[in-house]
Amino acid sequence: MLYFFVSDLHLSARAPGAAGIFRRLLADIASAGNRLYILGDLFEAWVGDDDDDPFNQEIVAALDEARQRGLAVFLLHGNRDFLIGAQFAARAGVTLLPDPCVLSAPARRFVLSHGDMLCADDAEYQAFRARTRAPGWQADFLRKPLAERRILAGQLRAQSEAAKNAKSAALMDVNPRVVADFLRQHGHATLIHGHTHKPACHAHDIDGVRVERHVLADWSETEGEALAWDGKTLYRKPLFLQSS
Ligand code: MN
Repeated sequence: MLYFFVSDLHLSARAPGAAGIFRRLLADIASAGNRLYILGDLFEAWVGDDDDDPFNQEIVAALDEARQRGLAVFLLHGNRDFLIGAQFAARAGVTLLPDPCVLSAPARRFVLSHGDMLCADDAEYQAFRARTRAPGWQADFLRKPLAERRILAGQLRAQSEAAKNAKSAALMDVNPRVVADFLRQHGHATLIHGHTHKPACHAHDIDGVRVERHVLADWSETEGEALAWDGKTLYRKPLFLQSS
């Protein structure tokens, strides 16, 4: 029984390489007892479960096939795909989890998060997050015609890219005090998150307790990464695009 954690795949029709790496991962790990936790930003954008884009349908089909082979798949929302809903989850055969979420795995307790809530110094982003996570905003957005939602999502993405370029790396990283409080609140469980695209293993001293924080890598068109837990060791599994 193996646990796999991935984040920030940013899949889109424009990034077929990352989708290829993801399909390969699903095919490799899909067997009874294994679990896959996707910690947000599986998709570069998500404008609603009613989106009939063929690329999304292919990913749904790949996830459903892996589920049929026994893989249990769990999904947390990221800042790009926070509109993934129950309809998608049912079709893909994945279980939506809240962010954060405590996971009691064999011999170890984890707490899982996308990680954007820990980036507290970026006040502008946190205001955007609060606005777009409100049920009223989401209902309004989802009521709009699909074509309009796609245009709006493109604009939001462009704005976010422009804002990112204007901000310092430190501003967009996690806030150390927020992380310390978070680890304390979650009983010193091992934290796994993505979002910052700064893969690393950090050791925090929280009131004299050593607590690990593992940051997942984002995926490119040629490389991805999964963190794996086999009940004894937590290790990084590099993933590559292979020609088929
Ligand atoms: Mn993210």
